[in-house]
Amino acid sequence: MKLIKSDMMELKLNIAGLIEQIKKQKKVKKAILQVPDGLKTEAQNIIDKLSTATKVQFYLDIEPVYGACDLASNFLESINADLIIHLGHSKFCETNKKVIYWPTYYDMAAEELNILSKNIEEKLKLKKISLVGPIQYSKIIRELEKQIKNVKIVKTTKTNLLNESQILGCDTSILDEITDKVDAIVYIGDGNFHISALPQKVQIYQLDNLDIVLYDQKDELKSKIMSEYIFKNAKNIGILVTSKIGQNNYTIGEKIYDNLKKQGKNPYLLIADFISYDKIMGLKLDCLVNTACPRIIDDKENYKIQIINYKNVLKYI
Ligand code: SF4
Repeated sequence: MKLIKSDMMELKLNIAGLIEQIKKQKKVKKAILQVPDGLKTEAQNIIDKLSTATKVQFYLDIEPVYGACDLASNFLESINADLIIHLGHSKFCETNKKVIYWPTYYDMAAEELNILSKNIEEKLKLKKISLVGPIQYSKIIRELEKQIKNVKIVKTTKTNLLNESQILGCDTSILDEITDKVDAIVYIGDGNFHISALPQKVQIYQLDNLDIVLYDQKDELKSKIMSEYIFKNAKNIGILVTSKIGQNNYTIGEKIYDNLKKQGKNPYLLIADFISYDKIMGLKLDCLVNTACPRIIDDKENYKIQIINYKNVLKYI
């Protein structure tokens, strides 16, 4: 089933495979379907197909879904459902609930793949590189790895959470072993959500239609230095904790709280499910420490006060 089509590629859902997986589950009468926000326009169509083929009753989770960490496990009991189907992302959370993670994948036509691989060869001739991207781009990455010549491709190894070549906005650990062994990383994907999580000590290239261009990390570096400076000088500090199952780091939040107290600061533990800037309006804080999804800081302009990810403050506490 085609979900999104652009000039360069198509996002596809293997709906027959998903129906088969649902049928294999025992005693499923009611299920919750989660789809990333970008696929909501197709959600009703998907539910129609799934419910006709499986006779399962479906609820659509209409909360924002940014990743597989946003698992709707708290809804299961409220509506007495048996299964969560999480579309678009790979497995993230360990849970005793029944969950089917069902990623979607981009395909690129042979002609476009050929142009892109030639452009990568030309720009990075004789260099050592690694190709990475979100799970949706993994088929394209496999094709490029086969086609690219005159460039040494250093492959990543899968981890418990990540598949080969896969990165998340909160986890690029597949690169830990190879960052020192490559001249550049080529990011195959879209937007800033994932690319801004990549290590800052190696050259990064990103897609520019069917070509690649150097990704400028200067702004991220400046912003990191600035946020650390403000954190060190802040007195009233909010520590953001989310109740989302895959992003809940309350023990880290409490550790930071205890250490800040010892330093004579005024920390406050703040909890929400979906964290957004409007929820901290009215609070008198100099700085926020974020223990939830690290990509929340991509929305920093809206927060009005400095926000810093917890990993960047651990060295100061
Ligand atoms: S925590 Fe953020 S970056 Fe990580 S999977 Fe969830 S939404 Fe994606």
